[in-house]
Amino acid sequence: MIALPKRLSLELTARCNYACPFCYGVWHERPELAEPELPTAEWKSILDKCARQGVKEVQFTGGEPLLRDDLDALIDHALAAGLKVALYTNASLLDETHLKSLKHRRVLISTSLPGLASYATMTGTAREAWPTLEAIERASELGWPMGVGITVARPNLAEAANLVAAAALAGASAIQVGTAMWEGRMKTHTDWMLTPDEWTAARAAIRNVPTGKARLTFADEFFCACREQPGDPASRWPSPSGTCPAGRAFGAIGPTGKLRRCLHTLEETDWRGS
Ligand code: SF4
Repeated sequence: MIALPKRLSLELTARCNYACPFCYGVWHERPELAEPELPTAEWKSILDKCARQGVKEVQFTGGEPLLRDDLDALIDHALAAGLKVALYTNASLLDETHLKSLKHRRVLISTSLPGLASYATMTGTAREAWPTLEAIERASELGWPMGVGITVARPNLAEAANLVAAAALAGASAIQVGTAMWEGRMKTHTDWMLTPDEWTAARAAIRNVPTGKARLTFADEFFCACREQPGDPASRWPSPSGTCPAGRAFGAIGPTGKLRRCLHTLEETDWRGS
């Protein structure tokens, strides 16, 4: 039997209503990892198996998990199986009803705030940042504050400190800031990747931002130790030290139900028959 990590990201779908050029989704490199998307019954069976095999926490993600009509049913099933449940969403479809229902079920919510003036560029949409900020603020008002992830790339570099300040002011519970990594769509947008010096300067500027109660953490990797190296000319980016922090903390189950030992690797294992 293949040992499962205690925490798993469940990528319910590769579909998304955004087209962020920094998207890590492995299916941007290998489209066959996206299909066929599993039906509800198979995800429920996976949740049961996860609970039996010692998984403690699952995070529903995608793509955009709110595009799945069965998300609520899957959340309820996971909770009934005894799993702690979290949701990572771009927040574009997250309304008041969702927020109250997620709070009621104690489902932790995280979202991404990839830009202020640069929001449309960073998300590949015509959208603005304020609805996301409103959702973060409303969650905080309801007493169920969200975590916020901020990916820094060339288009939002000048805004990096302001993004952290905006997330903190809106009431985020935790803020994680990282560089756009060499993977997914970024492999064809390497002009968006920061240099190590740019990241060091952005990190220092962010450190000066008062974040109140929000816990601030950084993810410093430019690419994942679980994957192949970028090679020349990308070797200007420093290699990750040691093993992949994501791989130590949690694995992923992709849209077709196969297991990856870290979010970033392309290698999948068909674990369910094991
Ligand atoms: S980063 Fe998130 S919101 Fe953006 S395209 Fe990828 S899955 Fe969608």
